[in-house]
Amino acid sequence: MKAVYPGSFDPPTYGHLDLIKRASQIFEQVIVVVGDNPQKKSVFSLEKRIELMKVAIKDFPNVCIDKFTGLIIDYLKNKNVKIVIRGLRAISDFEYEFQMALTNRKMHPKIETIFMMPDESYSYLSSKLIKEVASLGGDVSQFVPPFVEEELKRLHAAR
Ligand code: ADP
Repeated sequence: MKAVYPGSFDPPTYGHLDLIKRASQIFEQVIVVVGDNPQKKSVFSLEKRIELMKVAIKDFPNVCIDKFTGLIIDYLKNKNVKIVIRGLRAISDFEYEFQMALTNRKMHPKIETIFMMPDESYSYLSSKLIKEVASLGGDVSQFVPPFVEEELKRLHAAR
């Protein structure tokens, strides 16, 4: 069975990768779908986020990347995929994820959202916090792969 893992991945972190690894052990194919969350303004372009995610997943043979704009349920309908994976870190994720999962179900009843929890060492990690730390010159090497760290450094050097 195929599953889609959608997100903005701005930028990809070890938390996202932990989830991708877990999902790749359960599903035959995992499609990581990189998109824009209208509630968040992305720092990295869609092309850059896709490029970084491509490098990040290169060791997982059953994981591929795609991009989308618009509603994820339309993407799922087009690709005939019924499973959406989302990550749950803390209670704070619950409210938004719960609303989104049930709204998607109302719009497309055949879709099932599966929530996965990362290793506890990643349960506090967010792309937002990493961008903040990096912008203040902090070391983010424990949180993101080296090529993402490079990109964050480049971004802040240019500012
Ligand atoms: P979005 O903007 O769509 O919420 P994100 O890139 O922030 O996209 O996150 C994509 C998905 O990955 C979300 O379900 C989010 O809860 C989950 N996620 C983000 N960071 C982590 C983490 N550290 N551990 C597990 N899941 C995470």
